[in-house]
Amino acid sequence: MMNRPVEGTRRKSGIKRLRKLRTAIVEKGLDVLLISQPENLRYLSGFTGSSGWLLISGQNAILATDFRYVEQAKGESPDFEIIQTKQELRDWLPGLASDSGWHKLGFESNYISYGGYHKLSKAIKTKPVNLELVPTTGIVEQLRSIKETEELGFITKAVALTDAAFEQARAIIRPGITEREAAWEIEKFLRQERSEGMPFEIIVASGPNSALPHARPTEKIIQSGEPVLIDMGAKINGYCSDFSRTLLLGETDKSLQEIYNIVLKAQTAAIEKAESGMDASQVDQLARSVIEQAGYGDAFGHGLGHGVGLAVHEFPALGPSSSDSLADGMVFTIEPGIYLAGRGGVRIEDMVVLENGKAKVLTKAKRDLLF
Ligand code: ZN
Repeated sequence: MMNRPVEGTRRKSGIKRLRKLRTAIVEKGLDVLLISQPENLRYLSGFTGSSGWLLISGQNAILATDFRYVEQAKGESPDFEIIQTKQELRDWLPGLASDSGWHKLGFESNYISYGGYHKLSKAIKTKPVNLELVPTTGIVEQLRSIKETEELGFITKAVALTDAAFEQARAIIRPGITEREAAWEIEKFLRQERSEGMPFEIIVASGPNSALPHARPTEKIIQSGEPVLIDMGAKINGYCSDFSRTLLLGETDKSLQEIYNIVLKAQTAAIEKAESGMDASQVDQLARSVIEQAGYGDAFGHGLGHGVGLAVHEFPALGPSSSDSLADGMVFTIEPGIYLAGRGGVRIEDMVVLENGKAKVLTKAKRDLLF
């Protein structure tokens, strides 16, 4: 009984999402869209199984899955027609399309393998069906990029969890402990506090290791005077957070402190000046120009940030070559960094939501020079 209202909201937002998707499908001139990307599946239907297909047309909302997931699908996706599949896509889709009168079928070109596509188009050619396969990208991802109130609530909880884990990390990380021990303590805390697994492997990288943007925790013992880069995420109700801080332990050399302040200045510029309606590449440039002017342009070799939601990396992408544009309701990271090979690196990462045209910072952990 207790979860009725939540269930009600979920079903209502599910219906709203389907309505928006159907408008997009009509705009693209498609009869039906085949969806296989797992987060897109979950977003539209509530289904959390690892294997299934959605088929959305003006009339139909079908969830096709195999024996292992049928009962789960019925429970999680009450508004969908559940079809139990026995064989591969090519064995059942052409017949279903023919029975349903679909002629133009959109598919997610980034989530169907070359082999799968080949087999399906071959099956269509050998059967008496008139079905055209149309590659699409980003249709559901665009919808997902604008967060609803309920989604923002889950994200905020996930962000609060990484904030709390960072407090824990500050208490644990000291000279003498290994990177791997520190990462494990953080992971233990996140799991005890009900994070649904880790959205990605926690990074604890000290000294020269911190110059590798995606370092793995090693057996290296953390030394006094080193930078320690921490990057971690949590997951609540399927929604992720993403968080980075760099600790400067003990007496660090002045140049690292200077780099820290440049990264902080770059991040602050992007947070303060980002606006809805801007190109994502413009926001990247707001931070990048600060780092370039300080002479470290070549040492900031990744994009400024990325959308976060059901996936830890999603729409929009904030980078120099991004063609995405920003809008109210988008949640993304702002995470500039400077990495100096052999010496060390600094990254500071916060999550923000665009509200009333401006970026509101969701992350609460302090950003100023941390010793
Ligand atoms: Zn990130």
